[in-house]
Amino acid sequence: MKKVCVITGGSSGIGLSIVKLFIENNYQVFNLDLSPSAEGDFRQCDVTNVSQVTEIIDEISKQHTIDVLISNAGIHFSGTIENTSEADLDNVFNINVKGAYAAIKAVLPSMKANNNGAILLMASDQALIAKHNSFAYNLSKSALASIAKTTALDYAAFNIRANAVCPGTIETPLYHKAIDNYCQKSGADKNEVHQDEEKLQPLQRLGQPEEVAELVLFLASDKAKFITGSLQVIDGGYTAQ
Ligand code: NAD
Repeated sequence: MKKVCVITGGSSGIGLSIVKLFIENNYQVFNLDLSPSAEGDFRQCDVTNVSQVTEIIDEISKQHTIDVLISNAGIHFSGTIENTSEADLDNVFNINVKGAYAAIKAVLPSMKANNNGAILLMASDQALIAKHNSFAYNLSKSALASIAKTTALDYAAFNIRANAVCPGTIETPLYHKAIDNYCQKSGADKNEVHQDEEKLQPLQRLGQPEEVAELVLFLASDKAKFITGSLQVIDGGYTAQ
């Protein structure tokens, strides 16, 4: 029988690579995203809407046992604390943190009943280190690391594992949008900014979404059954500097 995986934000970038890899590995994948996708079983969903997330996951739970949750939907926002309005802060938190809260809370009854489950939170290297101009995003990713740890402790007795994945700079639409915004504001040349970004990485290149998906597949599997409450860095050596 196929294992069942629920992912948020599976229509683009890292999430889309995860959906494809999990399907290749015989999972049935439910993708909760704002934007439609042809990959997996798509459910239109705004993760900031807690009751919508709960309703969709409850519906899936009635038909299936949920083995894996990947809380991946997220947005980037650039700004110092002074450049971050209250509305900006709420928006980043609602998507990046409250979305994870909603999805985790909704899958727990199914996982507890099955005495089994793997929860992955897509955090960032910014859960471990700070980057310039990243007040709200950095804060939200540190919060996800905290959620991985508290969930791991509270649900270990139910054989439910929770881990945070901490990617460095990964070449996805979110990355391109972030450097487009930067170039627009600063007048910098996009090719130069991209090359500079590559040079900042010890491995001299950016990560690819498929590489993050491989780590997530491992962490979701029984091969990782003793790994819980951890922050798993995949950053080409960036945070080792
Ligand atoms: P992306 O923009 O390519 O994909 C994000 C997906 O989330 C999109 O499909 C989007 O529609 C969905 N989404 C956004 N808001 C949503 C909402 N309110 N409800 C439902 N879905 C929503 O981004 P990505 O680079 O693949 O990033 C995925 C995750 O990885 C994010 O949490 C991001 O913070 C994290 N991350 C990315 C990088 C990177 O360099 N790309 C590095 C570290 C962490």
